[in-house]
Amino acid sequence: MGMVTLDRDSAQGTYGRRPGIPPRVIIALVIAAFSVFTYFASSSYNPITESKQHISITRDQEIALGLQAKPQMERQYGGESRDIRKQALVKEIGAEVVSKSDASKTPYRYEFHLLADPRTINAFALPGGQVFITQGLLSHLTTRGQVAAVLSHEIGHVAARHSAQHLAKQRLTEGLTGATVIATYDPNDGNSRASAQVAMMVGQMVNLKFNRNDELEADRLGVRFAAESGYDPRSMIKLMEVLRDTSRSRQPEFFATHPNPENRIEKINAVIKEQFPQGIPEGLRQ
Ligand SMILES: [Zn+2]
Repeated sequence: MGMVTLDRDSAQGTYGRRPGIPPRVIIALVIAAFSVFTYFASSSYNPITESKQHISITRDQEIALGLQAKPQMERQYGGESRDIRKQALVKEIGAEVVSKSDASKTPYRYEFHLLADPRTINAFALPGGQVFITQGLLSHLTTRGQVAAVLSHEIGHVAARHSAQHLAKQRLTEGLTGATVIATYDPNDGNSRASAQVAMMVGQMVNLKFNRNDELEADRLGVRFAAESGYDPRSMIKLMEVLRDTSRSRQPEFFATHPNPENRIEKINAVIKEQFPQGIPEGLRQ
């Protein structure tokens, strides 16, 4: 309806009866209206978070973007660790969490990587299932359960499609440019004309910072996935304590991309109470 009104105003301008809205403004408005429409029209239900999301790319595109960003992510943190034993441990615990939890019901190809960087204390997830933990963070963890907690949180970001959601918002902000990029992006054709722009997006993704709500949702899913795979969900609290303690000596990079663990401990405790109203079952692994 809005577009019809704009057209008439534009015609009046053209015929010089009175100055109308300049055509470029009209074009901009149409593009903006289209972006908003596209954003709100592209909603999909996520069974894992049981919520409706605005997402404009397919799950296959998410996987492709994650795989494309992976080498850049690895380069930024010293490449894959050459410690074969620890690398295997990360992959093993990650695969265990995925196979035993509801994460297995998501259509992603989860892969877990230990990055060589010994000083950076952090973990990341790219869309589609590429998950990373630095040697710096792993070296502070003392139980398998804590490793499971980190990986479960990152799996939570993937399952909740936070990157894709972020991308849809960014696309809304940028108007049609992003829409064209995504629309012409074929994950099976590396030479598609949108490749350069996709590369740029991939770069942004590597430095992606999730918002607070995304982090809390990932914590919530992390507690759930860790418990479903047989780990004591209190490992998530232990993990926050480890992060808090390492921050006493220096500021871990984790804080650049994650909210303060102190604030999260309280919320995680509430989530555990909510998921286990009868108390935490016996025999879960630490
Ligand atoms: Zn996170």
